[in-house]
Amino acid sequence: MILRELTDEFTPMDVAERLLEAIRQPHDLAGCQVACGASIGIAVYPQDGEQVDDLISKADHAMYEVKKSGRNGCQYFTQSMQERSEQRHSLYLRLQAALANDGLSVEYQPVVDLRSGRATRCEALVRWYDEQGRQIPTGEFIAMAEETSLVNAIDLFVLEKAADGVEALSNRLGWPLGLAVNLSPRLFLSTESALNQWLELALQVARRVPLTVEITERILIEDPERVHQVLDRLKQHGATIAIDDFGTGYSSLSYLTQLPLDYLKIDRSFVENMTTSRPAQMLVDTIFSLARNLGLELVAEGVETPEQLASLRDKGCDYVQGYLLARPMGEAQLEQWLRRR
Ligand code: C2E
Ligand code: MG
Ligand code: MG
Repeated sequence: MILRELTDEFTPMDVAERLLEAIRQPHDLAGCQVACGASIGIAVYPQDGEQVDDLISKADHAMYEVKKSGRNGCQYFTQSMQERSEQRHSLYLRLQAALANDGLSVEYQPVVDLRSGRATRCEALVRWYDEQGRQIPTGEFIAMAEETSLVNAIDLFVLEKAADGVEALSNRLGWPLGLAVNLSPRLFLSTESALNQWLELALQVARRVPLTVEITERILIEDPERVHQVLDRLKQHGATIAIDDFGTGYSSLSYLTQLPLDYLKIDRSFVENMTTSRPAQMLVDTIFSLARNLGLELVAEGVETPEQLASLRDKGCDYVQGYLLARPMGEAQLEQWLRRR
């Protein structure tokens, strides 16, 4: 929309808000009430740009900011938006190059079975070190990669690489070490062929090593039907399924009874406070009884102190993972750690 003759009394923000109000009104479609929303970005001539393309692209940046902060609103373009978006884009290009040029690697964090004290599997975590050897925080670039389908390529890479690594390690150790991989919800928004490519590889891997696939509650916002089918196939081929970061995401719990799950991984934020805060303690207890009643096993993430470990043991936690036991590490280090243990 182009607005001319703006004044202090007639601002683009006023117009945008009135537009939103008008769009918000429900419509009657054959007896069905339908409401929509809109995300509106605003760029102003001449301060934001003098060319049409430039103005449109900046209004577009502003619109995406609105979408990212929960949709259904309006925002002016700002210079910092442009900078953020340029930084994201440059990170994207660097990550793409790293993927293509062998710049990513995988580290493994052992998951310890509290009953036997043995590390029965390890979680594969992707790592990116830049040319100067500095580590780029995984959470940061995964979040960016999840905005695009780049994350699918990362998940494929990690699955393939970690399966080879863990299989070779198991052979050297003479006992079967399990592998857990993280699966981005993004895959379920992707094309059928991307999903199949990942699934075929996962089924193949499940024949070679005991495989656990970690998904987050966010996955269910996508396409529950499709998610269900994929998880069923994984289960049929002997893989197990864990809900990662449990307690931080989706609010409906009915999926817990509908999906073929094996483990709940209690999010680190609960474990962190469970020995110092009464409400966190109560939440952990509730998650424990929820898991018990549903017949799911519990994995506690981010165990950092002996007090947390003792308390988890008391409650009958099945598995633990965290810096207290071991940090994520390379394959050679993992082998030493497992042999020492
Ligand atoms: P996550 O799957 O929940 O992995 C656990 C994260 O907690 C890892 O962070 C791990 O290094 C960290 N951690 C483990 N123990 C402790 C502890 O005792 N204290 C603290 N403070 N942290 C601990 P990381 O490696 O930075 O990964 C962050 C997240 O990025 C992961 O969370 C996962 O959601 C995602 N991610 C990592 N690798 C992949 C991947 O290959 N594919 C996808 N889709 N996501 C991945
Ligand atoms: Mg995980
Ligand atoms: Mg987690």
